[in-house]
Amino acid sequence: MDADTLRAYLAFYQDLGFTSLYRRTANPADREPPELPVLPVLPALAPDGDTLEKIREDIGDCKRCRLHAERHSIVFGSGNPQARLVFVGEGPGADEDLQGLPFVGRAGQLLTQMIEGTAKREGIPLQRKDVYICNVVKCRPPGNRTPEPDEMEICGQFLFRQLSAIQPKAVCALGSTAARALLGRKEGVMRLRGNWFKWRDIPLMVTYHPSYLLRPYNQNAKREAWDDLKKALHFVYD
Ligand code: URA
Repeated sequence: MDADTLRAYLAFYQDLGFTSLYRRTANPADREPPELPVLPVLPALAPDGDTLEKIREDIGDCKRCRLHAERHSIVFGSGNPQARLVFVGEGPGADEDLQGLPFVGRAGQLLTQMIEGTAKREGIPLQRKDVYICNVVKCRPPGNRTPEPDEMEICGQFLFRQLSAIQPKAVCALGSTAARALLGRKEGVMRLRGNWFKWRDIPLMVTYHPSYLLRPYNQNAKREAWDDLKKALHFVYD
């Protein structure tokens, strides 16, 4: 394997959350060349000249994981393909599955209010259509359950390509699932929120998922989410 291929593998596994590698110590008694493991065929991390249209085309009528079985639509993403800010949620809910668009249900309405309300208050001329919004998985998990690790891994390759194609100035991860998929960190959103991290070279802010903020007992979190968003908007648009 040459150095570039090895580098690509390492970046791929880092994106999936692997932070350590272990080398098997050689057994001196066993000098036979080890049998090489059969490596899975990995997709290119981001093909040259990648575009959102090409990524959507590659997804096709996807049946790569079990989530295809109960979906009505593949919810690819929506917004400005040259957005300077991208929001990443967990996965489509029932409304999104029916309409084929991300964040159009109650959580979506709150997200729109958060984006447009915060921007207005901060004097930033920004509407929802100016950002890009997508999810870690593109098919609705049955009963809105959290996506399984293998589902996130399979669909994550398309999310990574979307972010690479858009090249935003910052990403905002909405909730723990998005943070886990993009940062490979297991901590919950309460520990991560309000801080800057990086996805590849792109600054990434973690904040609460709007569905969490809809619960009446989470009103403090709402204030914190507004602060996080304010920080992200000023970073991107000042
Ligand atoms: N929740 C998400 O994570 N994504 C959506 O698109 C809608 C609700």
